[in-house]
Amino acid sequence: MECMMTIEPRAQPAPSSNGALPAQPLANATATATMPGQTEAPARRPMGRPRVVIVGAGFGGLSAAKTLGDSGMEVLLLDRNNYHGFWPLLYQVATAGLEPEAIGYPVRAIVRRYRNLDFRMTEVHGVDFERRLVLTDGQPIPYDYLVLSAGSANNYFGNNALAEHTYGLKDIDDAERIRNHILKVFEQAAAETDPERRAALMTMVIIGGGPTGVEMAGAMTELISHVLRRDFPTLNMGQARVMLVEAGPTVLATFPPNLQQETKNRLARFGVEVRTGVAVTGADGESVTLKDGDTIPTHTVIWAAGVRGAELVDRLGLPTGRGNRVKVQPTLQLPDHPEVFIIGDMAYVEGYRNNAPFPMVAPVAIQGGEQAARNIMALAENRPLRNFRYFERGQMATIGRRAAVLDAFGIRLSGRLAWLGWLVVHLLLLIGFRNRVIVLINWFINYVTYDRGVRLISRVDC
Ligand SMILES: Cc1cc2nc3c(=O)[nH]c(=O)nc-3n(C[C@H](O)[C@H](O)[C@H](O)COP(=O)(O)OP(=O)(O)OC[C@H]3O[C@@H](n4cnc5c(N)ncnc54)[C@H](O)[C@@H]3O)c2cc1C
Repeated sequence: MECMMTIEPRAQPAPSSNGALPAQPLANATATATMPGQTEAPARRPMGRPRVVIVGAGFGGLSAAKTLGDSGMEVLLLDRNNYHGFWPLLYQVATAGLEPEAIGYPVRAIVRRYRNLDFRMTEVHGVDFERRLVLTDGQPIPYDYLVLSAGSANNYFGNNALAEHTYGLKDIDDAERIRNHILKVFEQAAAETDPERRAALMTMVIIGGGPTGVEMAGAMTELISHVLRRDFPTLNMGQARVMLVEAGPTVLATFPPNLQQETKNRLARFGVEVRTGVAVTGADGESVTLKDGDTIPTHTVIWAAGVRGAELVDRLGLPTGRGNRVKVQPTLQLPDHPEVFIIGDMAYVEGYRNNAPFPMVAPVAIQGGEQAARNIMALAENRPLRNFRYFERGQMATIGRRAAVLDAFGIRLSGRLAWLGWLVVHLLLLIGFRNRVIVLINWFINYVTYDRGVRLISRVDC
């Protein structure tokens, strides 16, 4: 079914007789960039200022936009969604712990705080670097400076079966799809008379032992053992299985070995079957096959094993490094186009530990956004540019109720204290007072009642 959507425009000048909006004059050389017959949505900004277009209102794009807020630049932020998504809590939406709205924040509510920022909801299909145009599903958008921060996509390493038969977790729609699916397979299991098929419906396989996989596995066992057990009294929950499969030798590969072991132990205590050192080779919607020959009957396979630069990278025709990320200079500029900056998950910049590329995590994107914005201002004022430098604050992952691991500033914690630290940090990082309050209330209620309020099977599959 097709989703219909209408977008209410901001107060705009009256359209011309052919229905098109009046063309918008632009600063500098790009004033001639609008193609004949094409129009630009009207600006409410003062003219004559350099225009910065930022693609992606995620962690990187938003940070660049805020750094340029109230500067002498005209800033236009583009995103296919009208919200900023807080991906670290996506797994809680997928496991019915939080409603989707709690982790999304309207971009317009952020940009309206700055006089020089504007937002447009549009899909970006490419960039004409020579003519300095962003190609969208609407009119091409001219820029003087461009920041690309379109994030990442799932990497299935060329395995089409895995791409087709597993659930990715990349945005709010994905999370709702997973939540719907989990609740649906338990409904099907309750009506299923064949015990083997029922067991397969109640088996959840998560591929990838990084923080997302670990968090997902822990939350899934809690959902099953605390909530679905009560919702489905006719089902034997002893048949339910949650399996975490990791191709590498351990879970949480970037954490210290004692925290990896602690995570494995905790997961096992929660009832998660952890299998390390074995890759998944295929899936067909009714089972998943492992490299050691084992086949696990399951209708639910969640992919948390690989990420690559966003789909947009495929359409830019630029040189890429490992993981389909665009190679940029240490200043975050494109080598042949100094007016273009690439940040966050899309950017391949070496300089991390042992000169590895910087990891695909939110703080790298946020700090990259700040640096790109400062470099744009420096470029405009003919000042020298600075290389990107990453200040690392540490890493953490939650395993479940009162269980998390934390590795920051030489402090290594697990258990209740790490869990409290995780809760506080994630609450503080969420954008918006309302979202923080909603998340806090949800967490409190879930903690006290062992229940999950968001157990609706919605029809978001369109
Ligand atoms: C499930 C999950 C859990 C995570 N947990 C953590 C964590 O605990 N800690 C941590 O540090 N990091 C975590 N990350 C990683 C972190 O979210 C990313 O590193 C960070 O979001 C990268 O920021 P970004 O700006 O590059 O991309 P994003 O924040 O993903 O933003 C990209 C934006 O671009 C938009 N976009 C993409 N393509 C287009 C297009 N063609 N046209 C228009 N708009 C487009 C998207 O809608 C999105 O808003 C997690 C990621 C996921 C998916």
